[in-house]
Amino acid sequence: MKALQFVEPGRPPEIRDLPVPEPTGNQVLLKVTAAGACHSDEFVMSQPPEVLSALGIELPLTLGHEGVGVVEALGPAAIGVAVGDAVAVYGPWGCQHCRVCASGAEQYCENAATAPRPPGLGSPGAMAEYLLVDSPRHLVPLDGLNPVAAAPLTDAGLTPYHAIKPVLEKLTPGSTAVVIGVGGLGHMAIQILRALTACQIVALDIGDDKLAFAKEMGADHAFASDESAVEHVREVTGGRMATAVFDFVGIPATTALDAQLTHMAGEITVVGVADGAVPVGFFTLPYNTRARAPYWGTLPELHEVLALARSGAITVETETFTLRDAPQAYERMHARTLRGRAVIVPS
Ligand code: NAD
Ligand code: ZN
Repeated sequence: MKALQFVEPGRPPEIRDLPVPEPTGNQVLLKVTAAGACHSDEFVMSQPPEVLSALGIELPLTLGHEGVGVVEALGPAAIGVAVGDAVAVYGPWGCQHCRVCASGAEQYCENAATAPRPPGLGSPGAMAEYLLVDSPRHLVPLDGLNPVAAAPLTDAGLTPYHAIKPVLEKLTPGSTAVVIGVGGLGHMAIQILRALTACQIVALDIGDDKLAFAKEMGADHAFASDESAVEHVREVTGGRMATAVFDFVGIPATTALDAQLTHMAGEITVVGVADGAVPVGFFTLPYNTRARAPYWGTLPELHEVLALARSGAITVETETFTLRDAPQAYERMHARTLRGRAVIVPS
C-alpha cells in the first residue's frame, strides 16, 4: 500500500510502499477514506532526533492522526464493529484500564508511557491506504457523516471542543471569547462557540484572508494579531476585556497577548504547540484568572463533536488532496494559504 511517511527531520514527507498490515488480537484494520493534516505534524517534522525520541516517535513514521475509514478486517478478539462499518478514529490511545481512561479521557492516561502511541504520532498513521487501530474501543460510528468532513472532527473539532467545554458556564450572553489563530482548529473553535454559547466572538489572525474567513465562520469581529488587538478588544467589550482567550498559536507573540486580553477571573487556554508561555503570578495575570494547556479530547467528547456536526451546527471547511499530492498540503499549511483543514483522500 502507499503511505505518506516522515523519514528524516527537516525533510518533506515522502510517499512510500509498505505491506498492508494484518490485524491480530483486538486490532481492527481500516481502509482509510480520509485523513486530516494537522499543524502538529509540521511541529513534529521540524523537531531534532532527541525531541522525537522523547516524544516516543521512531522514524520512518506514517503520518496522520485524524483518520476515518471503513472496517476491512478484524483481529480474532476484536468485537463491537463489523466489516463495512464507517468509523472515525479516536486518536489519543490510552491503556484503557486506568481510572483516567475509564472516564474516557484517554489523552491523559496514567500509563501513557506504556500505552500504544497515537496513530501518526508514534504508531503508523492514517495517511495510507490502510490503518491498523489498536482496539474497537477507539472507533466511533460516522452514522451518515461525510468522511472528508468528518476526519478533521477527530482533532481539529475535538481539541477545541475539549478546550471550550470547561469554560462554557462563564461564557454567558454579554461575555466575550477571543480565538487566536483561525486555521484548522481555530475555525472550528469559532463555530463551536457560536453553536454552544451566545457570547461575542473575536478572532485574531495574521492576513486579511484569515480575518474574512473568521467572520464567515461566525466571528463578530476579526482583528490583526498584534499589540493593536488589545485596544480593539477593549473597544468591542466596552472596556471589560474577554472572559476567555483560546490561543491556537501558542508562540511568544500570542501568549504575550493572552493575559492582556483577559479580565479578572478569566480563562486562558493555550492549545497551540509552540514555545510561548503564560506566566502565572500575582502581578502577571488579572486576579483569579486561570491558565491551562489542555491536550486533545475525550472519547465521550468525540461522540458529542460528531453529533454536533450531524446536527449541522458545525462544518469543517476542507481542501482535499490525493495521497500523491499530500506533501503539498503541508507546503500550503506552512505558507498559511489553506482555508480550514487539508484532508488527504487515499483512493
Ligand atoms: P493551522 O496551520 O491550520 O492554523 C494556524 C493558524 O494560526 C493559521 O490561520 C495562521 O495564519 C495563524 N497564525 C499564525 N501565526 C499567528 C499569530 N502570530 N497570530 C495569530 N494567528 C497566527 O494549525 P492547526 O492545525 O489549527 O493547529 C493550531 C495549533 O494547535 C498548532 O500549534 C498545533 O500544533 C496545535 N494543536 C494542539 C493540540 C492540543 O492537543 N493541544 C491538538 C492539535 C493541534
Ligand atoms: Zn490509561
